[in-house]
Amino acid sequence: MSTDVQTDALVAATIDAMPLIDHHCHGIITEPLDRAAFEDLITESDWPAPDGTTHFDTQVGFAIRRYCAPVLGLAPFASPEDYLARRRELGAEASERLLRATGISDYGIEVGHRGDEILDPDGMAAAGAARAHEIVRLERLAEELMLEGCESSAFREAYDRLLDERMQGAIGVKSIAAYRIGLDFDPSRPSATEVDAAVEAWARGTTADEPLRLADPVIIRHLLWAAVDRACAIQFHIGYGDADVDLHRCSPLLLTEFLRRTRDSGARVLLLHCYPFHREAGYLAQVFPHVYFDVGLAINYTGSRSVEVIAETLELAPFHKILFSSDAFGVAELFHLGALLFRRGLQQALDAFAERDGWPADERSRVAELIAWRNAARVYRLAAPAAAAT
Ligand SMILES: [Zn+2]
Repeated sequence: MSTDVQTDALVAATIDAMPLIDHHCHGIITEPLDRAAFEDLITESDWPAPDGTTHFDTQVGFAIRRYCAPVLGLAPFASPEDYLARRRELGAEASERLLRATGISDYGIEVGHRGDEILDPDGMAAAGAARAHEIVRLERLAEELMLEGCESSAFREAYDRLLDERMQGAIGVKSIAAYRIGLDFDPSRPSATEVDAAVEAWARGTTADEPLRLADPVIIRHLLWAAVDRACAIQFHIGYGDADVDLHRCSPLLLTEFLRRTRDSGARVLLLHCYPFHREAGYLAQVFPHVYFDVGLAINYTGSRSVEVIAETLELAPFHKILFSSDAFGVAELFHLGALLFRRGLQQALDAFAERDGWPADERSRVAELIAWRNAARVYRLAAPAAAAT
């Protein structure tokens, strides 16, 4: 065995054993899932696969059969039928096995999306034997106030109060401005008069028979500035997501002026997923001191190609600006693969730098640790995971 092979193995072992802070994810569904429900959770499409085809014929589908099947006691590449039958047979244990093998020490759980169907942070902490922290969805809080019949004239004050209250138990906020108004929104802070008028119009346009959905740009800008005023850690959905998103309005570069204006606010801006704009996100993370990013969702969905996507995140972005997330929602498989593919991709990218430019093993391990948990612990002011080497 050459020394290079030995040091590569050493770095690989270190990366495999590192705790991970999953700074953006969601709860899992504990109800038994039939094939259609499971397939719906392993794609960002809102539609079933066309007749005679399956969402298992994808990078994520192959990765589930390759890496999750053995965790459930099946051979790699078990058929989707056998996999789902075994999953049902094991019940809650299937999710526990998949979650507990990830080495994730902390979940940052966003509870605003389909919150009544998924495990809450306490439930996730128990299922995964990990710490769980709440991330509050800004737009959801405004919708809660409207549902409660909050008077338009009292909205701003009520929102401030509610946000302060929720932030007592949360580590950050998330905005889905990308989904609701696109990221090409006016970066300026709206005036109180503008906000009051927009809330009034929203209330007037709301009818009891339609689901409540905040899509007013003035109100959403107001919510973002409320989070900036509180120097929150603010997560933004960026890039790839479900069919509800206009991807061409989700480049993080559209946030450039907003980022300039918030640079000295104390707020930290976390660009989520970012694919296929992760190189743009890397640029922003380099030039703005308060900008961080991850490629969470893209790791699972690019499967075998996630090695290259992860390597691309290590181009412009300083290593103290890159975070790990799974963005898993609904099924424990996405946590499992998120962690496994992330560790593998990071290790292979760093090995390639070592081969090309002689990066020492201890430096590779140090960079990996920043991305695995140290950066997230710093941004969200979390205690170091218990499993972390000091
Ligand atoms: Zn998410």
